[in-house]
Amino acid sequence: MVFSFNTTYKQLDPDLYSRVAPKNIDNPEILSINDGLCADLGLDAAKLNAHILAGQDLIEEPIAQAYAGHQYGSFTVLGDGRAMILGEHVHAGDRYDIQLKGSGRTPYSGRGDGNATVSSMLREYLYSYAMQNLNIKTSRSLAVIETEEAVERRQTEPGAILVRVMNSHIRYGTFQYVAAQVSDELPRFTDYVIDRHYPQLKTEDRTYLEFFDAVMQSSIEMVVDWLRVGFIHGVMNTDNMSIDGETFDYGPCAFMNYYDEETVFSSIDKHGRYAFGNQRPILRWNLERLAEALQPLCTQSALTSNELEAKLDEFEDRFDAQYYTMMRRKLGINSDGEKELVDEFVEWLRTSNADYTNTFLELEMPGTFDDPVFVTAEFERLRNKLTAVGLDEELMQEANPRYIPRNYLVEEALNEYIETGNLSKLKGLLTVLEDPYTSMDLDSQFQQPPPREFDAEYATYCNT
Ligand code: AMP
Ligand code: MG
Repeated sequence: MVFSFNTTYKQLDPDLYSRVAPKNIDNPEILSINDGLCADLGLDAAKLNAHILAGQDLIEEPIAQAYAGHQYGSFTVLGDGRAMILGEHVHAGDRYDIQLKGSGRTPYSGRGDGNATVSSMLREYLYSYAMQNLNIKTSRSLAVIETEEAVERRQTEPGAILVRVMNSHIRYGTFQYVAAQVSDELPRFTDYVIDRHYPQLKTEDRTYLEFFDAVMQSSIEMVVDWLRVGFIHGVMNTDNMSIDGETFDYGPCAFMNYYDEETVFSSIDKHGRYAFGNQRPILRWNLERLAEALQPLCTQSALTSNELEAKLDEFEDRFDAQYYTMMRRKLGINSDGEKELVDEFVEWLRTSNADYTNTFLELEMPGTFDDPVFVTAEFERLRNKLTAVGLDEELMQEANPRYIPRNYLVEEALNEYIETGNLSKLKGLLTVLEDPYTSMDLDSQFQQPPPREFDAEYATYCNT
């Protein structure tokens, strides 16, 4: 057996999931497989063929999970419409959901076709790989499998399946679903999630409050990490917020190049709800929705609404603490404090609209980039000010990536595959993103931001 499955989710209330079967696939083909992840999961890569990875050789009956969520602010009951969990793989004491995305319709598909395009699954593979190597907690991609069917989106493309690995796919929206549909189950479900993700809390007296506290903390850490590298998730609906602080659902995500907190790439996010600089207030809004979903626990346990409210009130201070610690590391400041200097520097980023990634590399290694924005008197003044308290190289090197997935390079790589069937550009990008904190002797294109016009017009898409 390739996977060691022990699927505890199936022991929960049957309203929480449906048993499903992946669609039949005639000639599945592995396009990419993540050897490092195979090793981390204790899997024998040689035994992992395309049939197994496409769900054509089942060990047990897969499930699709039910959940709900606020999508762009509106509450909706949902579920895995094109995803199926093959099982929970247990290795070295750790448990992982092995999930197929794009494996066909489920009872939650609505009008969706249950499919995914090969470009969107390769895109998710690339971004999750980059995020993992940027040391950000994330879902991981074990493989992309191409299928022979034609999937119709903006353009017709081959279909694909992504094999996605997470600690679990339980999300804020799963709690919203339980609260709305099977609220009697909420204590049992919450206990399950605590056992699975926050077992250290079992010794605490006030477990449910501590649970909310821990989710808040892991989510804050996740979003602050996004802000560190310029990541814009793009669709922070509550159904895309992991209960364990794992970044996931790489749809319309992209990295910001030129610093602008209003940056949005997602084509449907017309009002900038999920803009780069809105990710903090949206996280708080999402935590408020999670706290609402936990309300039934207030009649079923010792938890009180006031306690949850008081926890939420800690949000701004706790986010600030995490954020300023992160920004100090980016600026190489070894001490506490220096909040004003951080603010002053961020204000410079706002007004200069400089490339976010390269700014910190230029601070660390002056003269690296031939960009007029870095030879201004104001940048010089700030750099001098930082020299006195910061610019510790070691700190900076750990916090500031050399490489991020540059939007135009990602698009070029995906287009190359769609147009010619060649994966060489994508593989080149994956190689660069394998170790994004180490400068490599490479064509400088990997460090160049796209032309400003490219980013201004760049659009990303959901559900492709
Ligand atoms: P997302 O925007 O990826 O979080 O998706 C929102 C919901 O739509 C999820 O419940 C998905 O499972 C579902 N969904 C997205 N694309 C499809 C599709 N092609 N077929 C069926 N369901 C889909
Ligand atoms: Mg989703």
